[in-house]
Amino acid sequence: MNRPPLIHGADHDDWVARSRRAVWHPCTQMKHHERLPLIPVARGAGPWLYDQSGRRYLDGISSWWVNLFGHANPRINAALKDQLDTLEHAMLAGCTHRSAIELAERLSALTQHTLGHAFFASDGASAVEIALKMSFHTWRNRGHAGKREFICVAHGYHGETLGALGVTDVALFKDAYDPLIRQAHVVASPDARQAQEGEDAAAVAARALEDVRVLLEARSNSIAALIVEPLVQCAAGMAMHHPSYLTGLRALCDRYEVHLIADEIAVGCGRTGTFFACEQAGIWPDLLCLSKGISGGYLPLSLVLSRDDIFAAFYDDDTTRGFLHSHSYTGNPLACRAALATLDLFASDNVLAVNAEKSALLRTALAPLAVHPQVRNLRQCGTIFAFDAVLDDARHARTFSRRFFEHALSRELLLRPIGTTVYLMPPYILEPDELTWLAARTHESLDATLLEHC
Ligand SMILES: *Cc1c(COP(=O)(O)O)cnc(C)c1O
Repeated sequence: MNRPPLIHGADHDDWVARSRRAVWHPCTQMKHHERLPLIPVARGAGPWLYDQSGRRYLDGISSWWVNLFGHANPRINAALKDQLDTLEHAMLAGCTHRSAIELAERLSALTQHTLGHAFFASDGASAVEIALKMSFHTWRNRGHAGKREFICVAHGYHGETLGALGVTDVALFKDAYDPLIRQAHVVASPDARQAQEGEDAAAVAARALEDVRVLLEARSNSIAALIVEPLVQCAAGMAMHHPSYLTGLRALCDRYEVHLIADEIAVGCGRTGTFFACEQAGIWPDLLCLSKGISGGYLPLSLVLSRDDIFAAFYDDDTTRGFLHSHSYTGNPLACRAALATLDLFASDNVLAVNAEKSALLRTALAPLAVHPQVRNLRQCGTIFAFDAVLDDARHARTFSRRFFEHALSRELLLRPIGTTVYLMPPYILEPDELTWLAARTHESLDATLLEHC
């Protein structure tokens, strides 16, 4: 073992012990925390998180892909303080408020008013549930109640409530609940890493599209919608595909009269280089789910943007033809205001153009990894970077993620590989010196993790 020991204050250890007793942590086998350190985060500033011992960690994964403009961002903070003193919450049934209205208008404008209506919820999984229900109910209201099945893409991830798990294809999260789940049709992934001899990413996409076509040809009368993570299947391990896959999906969904749902919960808000990932394919979906970065990583907020013809399918004198879905905190004013402040930052700071420059810099800084003997598939899409570590021993591969995490922590870096895939999804505010630092520390953490068993 060549991990430097971490020395903590008594206070630090006390918080960790209390958390392990009282808090049931998400996506975690709690017993692993007998060995694996929990980080008691005391405060955040910019890209840095500080623990109870005063140690700092660069938040290389934007706190689970939500933080865009750093922790305690002064401009988002100021907007929230103002909102807090004006209106903290009001229900969105029967009432409305300025922040929700402005947010719905501005997001619609960002789609050139193609997606004219915003339905609010609180987290990503609920947005997915809403999109699925909306699609089914639209067809039902139009007299096609038989369209009640969904298509999802292999290795796709859409959240972990029961409905969302039905369109998720990650065995680790799903298998235990199989008897409770209504399964969707799973089509081939367009993951560019599957390219065979002589194939490029576009050819892999074309192959995957053929799989969709065959299914739609046979079953489109029973199918309501296809759901896809545009450009990057993040939870699958940053699996990236060619934009022609999305263009092809749009054409197939039009031809077979099936809704296209774009889950931009992780890839939206500039992550892939454009505000919406779908823009790179020159298409709009029928329903688009947003969450994670939309509130700048401040508060739980999600939205489903829909085309006007979907909205129109519910507009009727009959109550039961309406979309009677709700959550208590739907359209929470604080969350909406954080989102407005986030959109303000995009507009005032020319974020997409600046991000393109920063991504080029990080790409150059990471380039040496491309020739590392134990690295495959160094890849990038916008501000998402990933590579796969190659380990010959299955046991070492199984523990790779946890070991890498600890090596990175000891180098002031917070990264959580997915299996043997190391990825960076940093906040947009990193300065050039921080970007090169991030690349160097990632490389060092990899070498330290690989060296452990040499
Ligand atoms: C995170 C994520 C979700 C689920 O969002 P939660 O807020 O965690 O429920 C759904 N889809 C994608 C693509 C995601 O990355």
